[in-house]
Amino acid sequence: MPTDPVCACEVDEQGAQFKTEYNGKTYYFCTEACKAKFESRPDKWSKNPVKAEITR
Ligand SMILES: [Zn+2]
Repeated sequence: MPTDPVCACEVDEQGAQFKTEYNGKTYYFCTEACKAKFESRPDKWSKNPVKAEITR
């Protein structure tokens, strides 16, 4: 599953409502807010996406 680069949660691309293309790559987001955050600094978020932490 693709990961939201802003908050690191997994997004189901089948039902993804929030996505954007940057540099030929598609990024998926869990909310409009995450998408807006990415689009304000796409260079930053695409190079340094938030890494999901494994929590059990
Ligand atoms: Zn998110």
